[in-house]
Amino acid sequence: MSQPSNLHERIDAITEEITPHLIEIRRQLHANPELGFEEYETSALVMQELTRLNIAHRSGFGKTGVAASIGQGNGKTIGIRGDMDALPIQESASPEYKSRNPGKMHACGHDAHTAIALGVSEVLARLSDMLPGRALMVFQPAEEGLGGARAMLEDGLFEWIKPDIMLGYHNWPLIEGGTIGYHPKTAFASTDPFDITITGQSGHGAHPHLAVDPIVAAGNLVSSLQTIVAREIAPLDAAVVTVGSIQGGSARNQIPDSVKLEGTTRSQNPTVREAVKAAIERVCAGIAVTHRVTCEPTFLAGVPPVVNDPDILLSVLDTARGILGDDKVVELPQGSMGSEDYAEYSALVPSAHLRIGSRLKDRSTMLHRSDFDLDEACIPTAVKAIAAAAIDLMKD
Ligand code: ZN
Repeated sequence: MSQPSNLHERIDAITEEITPHLIEIRRQLHANPELGFEEYETSALVMQELTRLNIAHRSGFGKTGVAASIGQGNGKTIGIRGDMDALPIQESASPEYKSRNPGKMHACGHDAHTAIALGVSEVLARLSDMLPGRALMVFQPAEEGLGGARAMLEDGLFEWIKPDIMLGYHNWPLIEGGTIGYHPKTAFASTDPFDITITGQSGHGAHPHLAVDPIVAAGNLVSSLQTIVAREIAPLDAAVVTVGSIQGGSARNQIPDSVKLEGTTRSQNPTVREAVKAAIERVCAGIAVTHRVTCEPTFLAGVPPVVNDPDILLSVLDTARGILGDDKVVELPQGSMGSEDYAEYSALVPSAHLRIGSRLKDRSTMLHRSDFDLDEACIPTAVKAIAAAAIDLMKD
């Protein structure tokens, strides 16, 4: 059994005091969502709060990203990342804080993530005299497939302050508010988005022998790609190959010049990741020969898997149990094949990633749905667990 400590009581009290303000901030962000690299008002609000709290901070990392430094201790530096961007989705539910920006919505809860990072900042700032180390707070833009983490790193985030350890978190509607979930090893999958253009020779639909048909080639390619996971990857290793978009042709009686496919891959370890990419290249080469077309995949910037460091995760869970109660920390049965660009940090420094329970009490929804909303109990829960875990990790 973990015992409540004096420090935990103080974190608890500060968090309870500031929670109404954090919920206000979350609702303000929810009503005013901004897409990746356009989080101007969001980062202005973040900086206004950091200024109010007297916390040293810098902007200009990844266009709209902000980073803050808290504490002067000689112990470890703990990086804590919250993402800020919304999605191009029209909100269909009608909470009082419904999105005022047509076609834009916080459908992944990054509004709450920003509020949580501000809450952790305030707790740590108010305890700054007794911090054994330092915190690097990372308010990141453009998590939704646009490379915000990479952009912050390329703009020198870790040259400003290099953390010894990173902590990440995401609200998780599959578990109830007030709880923390975790995956013991791989928290998120790697992803490698790909484009494939198949080029043949256009012609009349009545004279296929005088054309080179990229549509038939595309049909075979989609089927053949599905054999990679089914027939080449060991059944107990996880992998996904999805073709999500296929575009070609404009008339029923014409064979078009080309067909464009877009897809994504997922895996949970580097060996499988490379095997899937190599297999896609080989299958494309085979389709090219078989159908007399050109067919080459282009892989766009992907991200590696998010793998928890076992010792850091153990420490974080121990602290979380201490401050929230043993029954509030739950192991999740399986890793997710979703991806997170938090992987960019966790590839550079040892890290742990937590799921913050956010299931609504009165209806069910899920991340990226147009009716998404979350149990705001996730905000104080995450603030307490992450602030306390960071302080424990700062001790050498
Ligand atoms: Zn998200």
